[in-house]
Amino acid sequence: MHDHESIFEQLADRGHERLCFHHDPESGLNAIIAIHSTALGNALGGTRRWYYESEADAIYDVLRLSKGMTYKAAVSGLPMGGAKSVIMLPHREHPRTKQEARAMGKFVNTFNGAYIAAEDVGVDIEFIDWMAAETPHVMGGETVSRGGDPSPWTAMGTFHGMRACLIHAGRGGDFSGITVAIQGVGHVGQNLCRLLTDAGANVLVADIRKTSVDYVVDTYGCTAMHDADILTTECDILAPCALGGVIDGSMIPNLRCSIVCGAANNILGDPEEDAVALKTAGVVYGTDFVVNAGGLIHLAGMHLGMSNDLLQTKNNEIFETTAQILSRGEEMTSTYAAAVNIAEQRISGVRETGIHAG
Ligand code: NAD
Repeated sequence: MHDHESIFEQLADRGHERLCFHHDPESGLNAIIAIHSTALGNALGGTRRWYYESEADAIYDVLRLSKGMTYKAAVSGLPMGGAKSVIMLPHREHPRTKQEARAMGKFVNTFNGAYIAAEDVGVDIEFIDWMAAETPHVMGGETVSRGGDPSPWTAMGTFHGMRACLIHAGRGGDFSGITVAIQGVGHVGQNLCRLLTDAGANVLVADIRKTSVDYVVDTYGCTAMHDADILTTECDILAPCALGGVIDGSMIPNLRCSIVCGAANNILGDPEEDAVALKTAGVVYGTDFVVNAGGLIHLAGMHLGMSNDLLQTKNNEIFETTAQILSRGEEMTSTYAAAVNIAEQRISGVRETGIHAG
């Protein structure tokens, strides 16, 4: 655990290349950029603005998230590495400012393109464009940078992943009559509500922000639930779309779903053990970094010069990739192990041959 390991031990354990800290005295920005791997290419990964209880928590988060980006890019067949950044807020409601964003943009720029920033929790299109005033190495804005909000693409990919999970669970690929419980109806969760209700699913939702819940209840006819109950409510698909670490060994026996498939990064507290426990419990797990790759595919694909048609095709491929991993997971300890195996094969293939996955 991060409490007992030195920073260098954590870097060695997870195979990171770099972990960089930056303090900007004028804006008060405290930020960290973690580059996990550039074996497949430059690394695109979001910037998270969050209040962390301690520096150790922020380091733990950025290390886990950046490693997940390496796997996400590799499993999606993108010639990109994995990285992520966090901005440590001094308190929960700390307002975002142009000065803070520009300071972050300058920090990103020091990587000369090895790290390309984008949106994550707490960062929106406007913030990205403020960052882009200081660096060309940022995607996901609408005026100074390009790509826009990736969350509709992430939601679409997660929807494809859910369909693969349904088929794998022997439930057919049709969402009508299927109940999906979504924890967190922010950017991705709201888009998922739209896709799922359009496809005929019953959607149960919970969010700590009442306005977000009211919006999806009024707009898409979702049913509101108490946020303490959403993870253990009876449903076909449980879709964590808030923060990570929400499912662990202690609560797996309490799950009342046949599938876990959501957009949140690092859904499982200990992915290696918890994915096995899910398999043992007969719960189909659509690995997070496989099903939530739609936003990365969109922004990285644009960065790499892909056409709109190819971007759409690559998003649709999340269905086949998820199905392939679910089927491989039958012969392995878990679907997570199968997904990591595919990602690591691609990365080591490039290390050995120097040929990019394309
Ligand atoms: P967001 O900040 O817009 O939405 C997150 C929502 O979760 C917020 O509405 C928040 O109030 C809610 N929330 C937080 N804690 C909660 C709790 N305990 N119970 C219920 N609700 C809670 O973020 P987003 O962009 O929608 O991303 C959601 C998740 O998906 C994150 O884990 C993110 O890393 C991951 N993800 C996002 C994208 C993307 O394109 N935005 C891509 C890949 C992965």
